[in-house]
Amino acid sequence: MENLFNKRKEEIIQFNKDLEELNLRKKERKIVPKEVPDDLMAKCPECNKFMLMDDFILNHKVCTNCGYHTRIGAKERLMQIMDLGYKELFTKIKNNYQDFPGYMEKLDKANEASSIDESIICVSGKINGIRALVGVMDSFFMMGSMGSVCGEKVTLLCEMAIEKKLPLILFTCSGGARMQEGIISLFQMAKTSQAIAKLKENGLYIAVLTDPTTGGVSASFASLADITLAEPNALIGFAGKRVIEKTIKETLPEEFQTAEFLLEKGYIDQIVARKDLKQTLTLLLKLHNYK
Ligand SMILES: [Zn+2]
Repeated sequence: MENLFNKRKEEIIQFNKDLEELNLRKKERKIVPKEVPDDLMAKCPECNKFMLMDDFILNHKVCTNCGYHTRIGAKERLMQIMDLGYKELFTKIKNNYQDFPGYMEKLDKANEASSIDESIICVSGKINGIRALVGVMDSFFMMGSMGSVCGEKVTLLCEMAIEKKLPLILFTCSGGARMQEGIISLFQMAKTSQAIAKLKENGLYIAVLTDPTTGGVSASFASLADITLAEPNALIGFAGKRVIEKTIKETLPEEFQTAEFLLEKGYIDQIVARKDLKQTLTLLLKLHNYK
């Protein structure tokens, strides 16, 4: 009887030991959260779905779930559209407008944030082997606002297109005129418009309106193209919707100032998905006998 009792006692001690070991193992197996790199996933601002950053970039920064076209910088745009080997133009034109307090510091900050030195980059290069002059605006540089440098670059690009008999393509993306340059920024509307008018007598001008194209840019060279394309869901307009509603005391349609609404009204010739833009531009250039 005593033996049996001792045996039972040993069994209980062993059971407790086993239990302890099991608990220890469980502790060892506890899941430790790992740090996820910030650039692994991207979140769509439209549908709020997450996608792998690699998929997002491969899809030209268009949401893989809902097709929303996010804003991209000028350098990224050039990489998507141009063949390798394009050359940047007018790099020596710098802003020396110093009247507005703090303007130079703002320009420096915008330069740091976007790694470009103005709201437009102009290049000479090829699109699928066809020579063209291309200007791309960048919303990450002071909201793509048009000041004297932007106006000068667009004008020079038009003059070069006439001289070299090359087609001109402008990707517009802007919050409007640059308020820090006051009336000078508004003069750029007239300056660029007359340059575009001269170009249109001699050659082809294609505008690609991207999100957002508003204010002085929409009221000048963005609206004067021979062929006007736009990206899906781009905001395009002059003044803000609420400002117009207050002025005319009427409610505007929900889709007012979208590329889709403007296509329906005849302001835009075609809406082109980002992945098809290079091919569409190539086709249009070929149709106009550019080589
Ligand atoms: Zn989405």
